Amino acid sequence: MRQILLLVLLFVVGQWFVKALRRAQTQTRAGAQPGQGAQPGQSAAQSATGGASTSGKAALPEPMVRCAECGVHAPRSESVNVGARSFCSSEHARAWDARTTAQDRPAR
Ligand SMILES: [Zn+2]
Repeated sequence: MRQILLLVLLFVVGQWFVKALRRAQTQTRAGAQPGQGAQPGQSAAQSATGGASTSGKAALPEPMVRCAECGVHAPRSESVNVGARSFCSSEHARAWDARTTAQDRPAR
């Protein structure tokens, strides 16, 4: 008889434990979901703020980009973009590309 009572008690405690575990899991999930969602959300917000800042800069005459080759600031509309880099002219883009590819290649 005592064993049955013990079993019932174990069952109840087990149920409570499972409930507590589920609660903890949902809490961690609820805590993780905003965290996981915050990274794309942050990037989206960053891009949104970036877009807002660029649109705010668009209020200025021209957004200026720095040439990776000579460091001259050129208007974005006149700049040449190669990958993530901007150049004041296609000549500098080519020169930079030739320089970097020469660096990438082994000298000998
Ligand atoms: Zn340049």
